[in-house]
Amino acid sequence: AKRDPMRRVCFYDREMDEAARLRKRLASDLRTALKQEEFTLHYQVQTAVPTGEICGYEALLRWYHPELGEIAPAEFIALAEENGLIVAIGDWSLRAACAEAATWNPPYKISVNLSPSQFVHPDLPEKIAAILAETGLDPSRLELELTEETIVVDKARALLTVRRIKAMGVTIALDDFGTGYSSLDTLRSFPFDRIKLDRSFVQDLETNPQATAIVRAVLSLGKSLNIPILAEGIETSGQLTILSAEGCDAVQGYFLGRPATPRQIVESGAIIRHA
Ligand code: C2E
Ligand code: CA
Ligand code: CA
Ligand code: CA
Repeated sequence: AKRDPMRRVCFYDREMDEAARLRKRLASDLRTALKQEEFTLHYQVQTAVPTGEICGYEALLRWYHPELGEIAPAEFIALAEENGLIVAIGDWSLRAACAEAATWNPPYKISVNLSPSQFVHPDLPEKIAAILAETGLDPSRLELELTEETIVVDKARALLTVRRIKAMGVTIALDDFGTGYSSLDTLRSFPFDRIKLDRSFVQDLETNPQATAIVRAVLSLGKSLNIPILAEGIETSGQLTILSAEGCDAVQGYFLGRPATPRQIVESGAIIRHA
């Protein structure tokens, strides 16, 4: 019995070694992933409430590792952010999403996530303008999703960048709303076109009356500020019913549609591609 704790330490050590080795491997493989065309984008539908009409799609990055298979963003975005690769990878996402959306009929909006180092990069507005020109996507069809984490790095500069992007006609959404620490201040000072309510609030809707109260308050805040609210992570019809009754503007989640390949959304009939 006395040897047990020691053995456990060794066991954990070995596991940590393996986790660290995997991280190192992924970090190193990430360097060549772009060149070897291992990234793809999946698209998740966003629908208006209560009409159920499609209003757009969010582009979500996927990495198909040649040996390890599909790796979720949660596992590699942070790594890419740490070693600076996220700027090149994120730019690839932005360009690929705009190019894809430019082929769609009807002309749905496309939402693209921006990570902190992409957003603070001084060339961002020029890059966006170049990508729009190159792909022919109308600026009003592009929405960029920012989190508070991205904005708080330097609020004054962030506001200038947001204004420059909006001046092109591109819209800005605040992502993961409710999980940051200064939400009200951010709302007061930034001209967001839309707020995406984090899925943690939606998850508890059917079981926790407090969650309904919070969602109701956020929806009412949105109405007062005249900013539409999209609720994320809807997984059940019950959640959709509550959100609809409370006056939510739009929804996104597995219940409405899982992230899918361009081919899958074309085959579903939601989109007709023109050449
Ligand atoms: P996010 O922007 O909050 O994206 C929503 C995440 O929730 C996606 O995970 C999506 O697949 C997942 N999701 C959607 N509906 C449901 C649902 O009903 N239930 C549950 N449990 N999950 C749902 P994903 O694709 O793994 O992406 C994770 C995060 O990675 C994103 O969070 C975003 O922050 C980041 N990310 C994804 N693509 C890109 C990209 O192209 N560029 C950058 N910079 N970040 C990206
Ligand atoms: Ca997002
Ligand atoms: Ca989100
Ligand atoms: Ca997130």
